[in-house]
Amino acid sequence: NDKTYDLKAAIRTIPDYPKPGILFRDITTLLGDARAFRRAIDELVQPWSGAKIDKVAGMEARGFILGGAVAHQLSAGFVPIRKKGKLPHTKVSIAYSLEYGLDEMEIHDDAVVAGERVILVDDLIATGGTATGAVGLLKKIGADVVAACFVIDLPDLGGADKIRALGVPVRTLMSFE
Ligand code: 5GP
Repeated sequence: NDKTYDLKAAIRTIPDYPKPGILFRDITTLLGDARAFRRAIDELVQPWSGAKIDKVAGMEARGFILGGAVAHQLSAGFVPIRKKGKLPHTKVSIAYSLEYGLDEMEIHDDAVVAGERVILVDDLIATGGTATGAVGLLKKIGADVVAACFVIDLPDLGGADKIRALGVPVRTLMSFE
């Protein structure tokens, strides 16, 4: 592990995407850089190397890429959380807040055995609406949500604090004001 490696430099910022005034933090440059991708996954799993984690849950779509790699490294299972209408088996749904209005996300109702220890992984936490929905779904199906982990925090938007207020510890690797 190279402690001086600048993971933040691997994130590309796109101004005015998807709308004027938004600074989009693009992780595709991190994913495409072998050293940065390895480093991000190593840092995400680091607190859990000695802990028993049964499953990693990831929100589509970037949460699948990071969560899949984290699950593999922890020898844990992977649980997809998807936008409504994409999962084939019996499922549980929850409404979650987007910038404008509500949408729904879903999880298979048998994705965890009650009491299984699960960590949630996504690329970025902003308002926390997405992660609040994901934690709600995991709790509905009986998961013990041990932590929520993100590469990027936008602390000004307060999402991480919202998740901590639900009693779920939050870990992030970097923040952008
Ligand atoms: P929240 O629900 O916390 O407001 O927004 C977080 C969700 O939106 C995450 O699933 C994340 O992938 C996506 N998102 C919002 N803004 C950005 C951004 O600037 N960059 C990336 N990569 N994802 C974002």
